[in-house]
Amino acid sequence: MRDVEELKRLVQEAVEEQRERLCEISRWLYEHPELGSEEYQAAELLTGELEKHGFAVERGLLGMPTAFSASYKGRGDGPRVAVLAEYDALPGVGHGCGHNLIAASAVGAGIAASKVMGELDGEVLVVGTPAEEGRGPSAGSKVIMAEKGFWDDIDAAIMLHPSVRWSVGNRSLGIWTVKMEFKGQTSHAAASPHEGINALNAAVLAFTATHMLRQEARRDANLVIHGIISEGGLASNIIPDRAVCEFGVRSSDDAYLKEMVEKVARCAEGAALAMGAKVKVTKKKLYSGKKINEPLVELLWNNYKALGVEPVDWRESIKGMPMASTDFGDVSQRTPAAGSYIKIADPGTPGHSREFADASVTLEGLEAMIIGAKALAMTIVDLLANPENAKRAREYFNSH
Ligand SMILES: [Zn+2]
Ligand SMILES: [Zn+2]
Repeated sequence: MRDVEELKRLVQEAVEEQRERLCEISRWLYEHPELGSEEYQAAELLTGELEKHGFAVERGLLGMPTAFSASYKGRGDGPRVAVLAEYDALPGVGHGCGHNLIAASAVGAGIAASKVMGELDGEVLVVGTPAEEGRGPSAGSKVIMAEKGFWDDIDAAIMLHPSVRWSVGNRSLGIWTVKMEFKGQTSHAAASPHEGINALNAAVLAFTATHMLRQEARRDANLVIHGIISEGGLASNIIPDRAVCEFGVRSSDDAYLKEMVEKVARCAEGAALAMGAKVKVTKKKLYSGKKINEPLVELLWNNYKALGVEPVDWRESIKGMPMASTDFGDVSQRTPAAGSYIKIADPGTPGHSREFADASVTLEGLEAMIIGAKALAMTIVDLLANPENAKRAREYFNSH
């Protein structure tokens, strides 16, 4: 077997050989954005490309029509390393989250790694994970996969996401939703208010109480509560008999998050009691927070470094304040996982915007995707050519 550095050079060359095609895929997805759970054309394009390069493709993975798993096996048994693709777009802003680049980089990294699999033991998988933005029946598909045990026999999972800076190993917030449906009694708002039960007043009280919880929040747990009143009556001269609040509750500490979700629910119950209304509270876990795997983060980070970009020091990233939530968090709770961010635009460019979508197909955006594909492929080599690395990641996972 050639040494690790030589194999890494080969996978970089393999990405270069596909450069045009990977840019073409990025642009095609940008021009044909599909919403979550409806990414039929994207899934077809990506699986077709992988099949062309000899991958064994399973479409409709775990009953999700636009999910897939594409596998390329090496010489013999060894670690199974997955690189994750996302390809859902957003309403109104197309690929405003840049998932077209996630898809192209994953396909590029997988194909590049496949070119050296003849010299390695183990398996490389490109896993198509639809509806990351949470829409339709496959919403948060990585969580569905986690619940069905898909990640349990994967030894490492890696991916990238477009951003305004280079970094590896950032944390993410776990998120639950809490929906409060208040039921009261309508009555004439002037003539017979005493015969009514004002569901909106209960909702407002619950909203206020929920906001007050923040003051007592643990400051190290990055608690975020955001909400709306989505229904609040039909006409001002009728006491509303129905009002609905919807909250997102997030934290970087999954156990603490659960505790706070219970407290938010308590606000609803207390408000209902005070107003004499009834309330139905629906609590739903969306995504777990990320479990950081330091050995894997360091491998991935070193490869970005070797490619000449300057990612934020990973020791800083893993301590940084997590800003958002992702279904990749649930992958990281099941198996060693590391995510990276590639810089496609200048800081200040808003995520989920038309500007961000456009940045994904600029020269800078496409070049960042190519660099990312190389870093991912090199990390696959690190894990397969030196199984010690996979072992170290597993040990870290088991002990944290
Ligand atoms: Zn995204
Ligand atoms: Zn997004």
